[in-house]
Amino acid sequence: MLIDNHNRRINYLRLAVTDRCNLRCNYCMPSEGINFAKKEKLLSIEELYKTAEIMVDMGIDKIRITGGEPFVRKDLMILLRKLSSLPKLNDISITTNATLIGPHIKELKELSITNVNVSMDAINKKTFERITRRNQFEIVQENLIRLISEDFNVRVNFIVLDKQNEEDIIPILSLQKHYPIEVRFLEEMPFNGGSKHFNTIKWNYKKIYEHIKETYPDITKLNSPTTSTSINYKIKGHKGSFGIIPSFSRTFCGSCNRLRITALGDVISCLYGPPKTNIRELVRNGNSDKEVQNVIAEVIGSRAPTGFDAQKEHTDVFENSMTSIGG
Ligand code: SAM
Ligand code: SF4
Repeated sequence: MLIDNHNRRINYLRLAVTDRCNLRCNYCMPSEGINFAKKEKLLSIEELYKTAEIMVDMGIDKIRITGGEPFVRKDLMILLRKLSSLPKLNDISITTNATLIGPHIKELKELSITNVNVSMDAINKKTFERITRRNQFEIVQENLIRLISEDFNVRVNFIVLDKQNEEDIIPILSLQKHYPIEVRFLEEMPFNGGSKHFNTIKWNYKKIYEHIKETYPDITKLNSPTTSTSINYKIKGHKGSFGIIPSFSRTFCGSCNRLRITALGDVISCLYGPPKTNIRELVRNGNSDKEVQNVIAEVIGSRAPTGFDAQKEHTDVFENSMTSIGG
């Protein structure tokens, strides 16, 4: 079992498989001038699998595949097939923009990879296209409905963006009104490749909640696992539920159970902090699994207590882009 220096059990790895994406969400990356990593700097499928094996052996039992957009990697399914054969890995989840998942839905179900988070920051086509800077609304909608009808465990992630998609907050809740899925509202974080800087946000978790309550006063708070980053609620009469993630306010650090590995292999022990080591280099330089595990154990043994403390460890946090870290 992996326990950090603040007595938090670490069992959840967010593994980014690429920094590339077919969308250009304006909260995530600039419209152009992005320095995508050279292919040889990305972890190969074998290296991603080796990383997963090493981490699972240390006590990780949940891996979320993220990116960039995971499905822009043509060899993604090879990795997923291999991961699904790891006996101690209880949960493989994916975070995707749902543009390219369509052809893989059947096989994902066969592999029992049914926890899929779909990022969809608007239910209005024009708003969606303005935010993502691409015309992919219909396919996202189609794939979302397919995932729901195929009984996937779907969560829709919606980042509340000041003056961009506020008007879609209530309409997007219709998804969880009619289907047994979760819609989660996220606070925006200043991780957009340096194209935007801010120290405060208008749409914090309290404001999002108050806004929803104006339309739906009959809200019950649900019990959530202690490691959950979202505060979860049920609206009376709705089939699904909704959650709010204080990703900017960071109220959940005390129970953080996660570790991140970026598309380039950087190991990040807190989303707000700098990388602590690089697993691609460790694996490529011929270190044994045990040697790699010793380095990871050191990283986990020196985690910052909160995201605010981790942020002080470096000065250029706002230059980071989610497209490499994976959210
Ligand atoms: N391309 C996939 C997608 O969009 O779901 C996976 C990668 S994306 C970087 C992972 C998550 O990070 C998404 O849910 C996205 O909404 C979130 N994200 C990206 N930039 C963010 C930001 N500035 N603030 C909050 N969340 C962000
Ligand atoms: Fe791509 Fe996801 Fe970033 Fe949007 S949030 S640009 S879909 S990586």
